[in-house]
Amino acid sequence: MDQKLTADQPAADQPAADDRRSFLRTALAAGGTLAAARISLGDDPARPAAPAPAGSFRLVHMTDIHVQPELGAEAGLAAALAHAQLQKPDLIVTGGDSVMDVFEAKRGRAEELRKLLLGTLKRECSVPMQHTVGNHDILGWNKRRSGMDGSESDWGKKFACEMFGNARTWHTFDRGGWRFVCLDSVQPKGDGYVAYLDDEQYEWLKELLATTPRTTPVCVVSHVPILSLTTLTYGKARGRDKVGEDNVIVAGEMHTDATLLHELFKSAGNVRLCLSGHIHLLDRCAIDGVTYICDGAVSGSWWKGPLQGVREGFGVLDLRPDGSFDHRYETYGWTPRK
Ligand SMILES: [Zn+2]
Repeated sequence: MDQKLTADQPAADQPAADDRRSFLRTALAAGGTLAAARISLGDDPARPAAPAPAGSFRLVHMTDIHVQPELGAEAGLAAALAHAQLQKPDLIVTGGDSVMDVFEAKRGRAEELRKLLLGTLKRECSVPMQHTVGNHDILGWNKRRSGMDGSESDWGKKFACEMFGNARTWHTFDRGGWRFVCLDSVQPKGDGYVAYLDDEQYEWLKELLATTPRTTPVCVVSHVPILSLTTLTYGKARGRDKVGEDNVIVAGEMHTDATLLHELFKSAGNVRLCLSGHIHLLDRCAIDGVTYICDGAVSGSWWKGPLQGVREGFGVLDLRPDGSFDHRYETYGWTPRK
């Protein structure tokens, strides 16, 4: 599949101004408080947050970093990490696409991006991190553009595993009374990809959820959304000529096994929260006791500014052992560079 059709290559024709910002300014003029407006606008990135309430666990979910040498992205990641650490998180989980792109990059560029990511994380972050794989973290699957043939020792997901220090592209861990599951959404199709769990991973997840008590809340992190409304609102609205026709969700933009996974979560009874990225937009939908959140992007529109009004930012979640949680999207005051 041509990557130009995928969601995490934002459309070129975005709103010229940040609509959300002007909306908030209007709200402020209408009586909102300055403090609330400053946090929402990201105008005060040095402002420290109140710590997580007693008994809860604070998670920062940073997705779609897309670090690269261009557009000041290295400084952007450093600024995001600094602001994330002011939120006093217990853990930072990345949601995939941590590097700009090694999917179709040549070897030299891939090495440069990995070095940039790992160097910046090591230098700028002192909070424990866990990593989720995204399509852009996979080496050379686009053989035509990358010039690779698949025989390279770290080709494909091996590169991502080595970069993130993981034995494989999905894993689980327990923190703060929650069980976390980082999944691998991305499966090959031609020189591109589509989103689902392969058989081995699906069986592993089924077994994991079945052996996790129903009273233990589970947070699932995937790069591509399992369920998301943003897959319909991303890009241009369809014209009147399409009225009466089916809505189409591209196979690389939302899990093609979405309903199967949702049924699995329902029957397991312990999955409370699913976090994703990939679309670089924000939404939250709750169904059958499971909340699905698509959590924006650290890079906004690949560092070129907000995407459809969603600014550069990350999710901050306070998770309580009873499975309840609070979520907010935190911007960090990034201004796009030329
Ligand atoms: Zn992305």
